[in-house]
Amino acid sequence: MNGTPTPILHRIGGKPERGTSGRTSPVTNPATGRVTGEVVLADATDVDQAVRAALGAFPAWRDASLSRRSQILFAFRELLSARRDEVAAILTAEHGKVLSDAAGEVARGLEVVEFACGAPHLLKGGFSESASSQVDVYSIRQPLGVVGVISPFNFPAMVPLWFVPIALAAGNTVVLKPSEKDPSAAGWLADLFAEAGLPDGVLNVVHGDKEAVDALLTHPDVQSISFVGSTPVAKYVYETGTAHGKRVQALGGAKNHMLVLPDADLDLAADAAVNAGFGSAGERCMAISALVAVEPIGDELVAKIVDRMGKLRTGDGARTDVRPDMGPLVTGAHRDRVAAFVGAGVDEGAELVVDGRGAPDDAEPGGFWLRPTLFDKVTPTMSIYTEEIFGPVLSVVRADTYDEGLALINANRYGNGTAIFTNDGGAARRFQNEVTVGMVGINVPIPVPMAYYSFGGWKSSLFGDAHAYGAEGFQFFTRGKVVTQRWLDPSHGGINLGFPQNG
Ligand code: NAD
Repeated sequence: MNGTPTPILHRIGGKPERGTSGRTSPVTNPATGRVTGEVVLADATDVDQAVRAALGAFPAWRDASLSRRSQILFAFRELLSARRDEVAAILTAEHGKVLSDAAGEVARGLEVVEFACGAPHLLKGGFSESASSQVDVYSIRQPLGVVGVISPFNFPAMVPLWFVPIALAAGNTVVLKPSEKDPSAAGWLADLFAEAGLPDGVLNVVHGDKEAVDALLTHPDVQSISFVGSTPVAKYVYETGTAHGKRVQALGGAKNHMLVLPDADLDLAADAAVNAGFGSAGERCMAISALVAVEPIGDELVAKIVDRMGKLRTGDGARTDVRPDMGPLVTGAHRDRVAAFVGAGVDEGAELVVDGRGAPDDAEPGGFWLRPTLFDKVTPTMSIYTEEIFGPVLSVVRADTYDEGLALINANRYGNGTAIFTNDGGAARRFQNEVTVGMVGINVPIPVPMAYYSFGGWKSSLFGDAHAYGAEGFQFFTRGKVVTQRWLDPSHGGINLGFPQNG
């Protein structure tokens, strides 16, 4: 882009706000490397302004009828569905993912909106008539109040949509803090919610970095935090938020393994490895980054993967003339970090089968390029195996048995997603039972649960006990209350200081 970068402002109380911090951060188009926007970064005063707007909007929103809340969600669903290309273009321009992938991200977010439209059903309580003589007991679920949502760069629309529709449907008001690397989609979604009829102050967006996150984590009027990002930050968010009395769900990083047994359909497995390893340039928390091939299929499988990689096109995701399969990485710093891992893999003795370092021929040289990269004969002590790379780098590890492969996956500190490829139903069933990972695919490489299940990993991939969306989402964004009622009649039980019992 030529000219002045576009200012990217907070949305507080229904209005764009610059805030008072005076701090900003550049936003780049990863395919060109050029600065296209300048996002304001909130300080504690700006965050407090957003929390106060959300607090002010809470009583009326909490009291809005279930049908009014779901009608607004239905209206939002219609608007988002009709204008999905618009937000997909924003995602491509700031994140770098190709347009078709950006459209997929929006579609997965839409699923959660559709699920949240069912709030009247999902918020129903229980009722026990005559739990004791002339006593009825019933449970209700009530909103928490102001809730905070903090999202990562890799799904700038989908991750906010994992939480915001359910939080709103349950009667909460929200302060959303998106990633400062690609912040525009969040503001676009907030504007669309306003167009759908959401009252001012019910959804606020504050942009920022650690300073804004810390202000949310310690603010006394924020009741809960839903965080998605890297493991060290997720752990910090969980510890700080809970120390300040908040309910916290903090989803962290991943190192997702795909286990390929000798009886698997190797063409299917090779397709899956390429799709799940290099889609969105490997910047997915459910990307496959380690493929465990159970011998003797290693050589044949690697050959099939290499063959497919030769046909992949890397380029500017916005180009509709060539339609690349994969775009650039999100920032120059991230590209350099991933490239450094490739160098480390070579130094540590892994076999670099396909080297993706360097820009594609027809790409803008200033873009943050790194093409698909494949390592074979990776061992569990190498840094390319132990660390989350979060780029288009796939590592093949050879194992001699199913048990050896399973032990590798279970020894890993992450437990987000995993997949087994086999034609043996018994082996697949054993795997689903024995693997210590939260989301499991059987001949499915990226097993992201549908909106009516819940999303969440195990071990260092999730801090807290509530997974995202699905029924657990409604649990997280509400508190239970149980009412025991008796309507007086002429008989009176008299004084009894004993603990109440059924009778
Ligand atoms: P990140 O941890 O750097 O940032 C996430 C959020 O935290 C951003 O909003 C950022 O502004 C904020 N933040 C960054 N550093 C902080 C700090 N020191 N203190 C407080 N807040 C801070 O993550 P990212 O690079 O934006 O996203 C990629 C990571 O997210 C990967 O590790 C990926 O696996 C993970 N991720 C996980 C899931 C999941 O469902 N488990 C989904 C998507 C992404």
